[in-house]
Amino acid sequence: MDKNIFEKIRDEEAEADIVYRDDYITAFKDISPSAPVHILIIPNKKIKSLNEIQNEDTHYLSKILLGSAKIARQFDVHETGYRLITNCGNDGGQEVPYLHFHLVGGLKLGKMISLSKSEKKQFNDYKSTS
Ligand code: AMP
Repeated sequence: MDKNIFEKIRDEEAEADIVYRDDYITAFKDISPSAPVHILIIPNKKIKSLNEIQNEDTHYLSKILLGSAKIARQFDVHETGYRLITNCGNDGGQEVPYLHFHLVGGLKLGKMISLSKSEKKQFNDYKSTS
C-alpha cells in the first residue's frame, strides 16, 4: 500500500525539517504553521489515530509526551507555555491518517476551541435539544 506523507517523512523519503528523532518518535516543523512554533510529533510506528492505539503502543505515547517537553525546551517555549493537540477523525479535523501531535507555542494562544457563528448556532441547537 502507498505510504502517506508522514510515513514518507519518517522514512526520509519526503523532505521535512526534522527537529528531533529517537527510536520511538520523529518531530518535524509543520509545513503550514499556525503559530511561531508549530511542530508535529509522530510515533515511529504507523498508528492511524488515537482510535487505533493498542495496549502495546503505550510506550510510544509516553515517548511523545516526554519528547514534547524536550522539544518545547529546544524551541524556548518551555517556560512561556505551549499547547499539545491531537486531532482524531473527521469531526476532530484530522487530515493526515497517521497519529500526530501538534506542539504549538511562541505566542499567547486563544481559547482552545473557537467556533464560527454557524458552529455556535449548531452547538446552541444541540444544547436546546439535549
Ligand atoms: P491534522 O489536521 O491534525 O491532520 O494536521 C495535519 C498537519 O500536517 C497540518 O497542520 C499540515 O499543515 C501538516 N502537513 C501536511 N503535510 C505536511 C508536510 N509535508 N510537512 C509538514 N507538515 C505537513
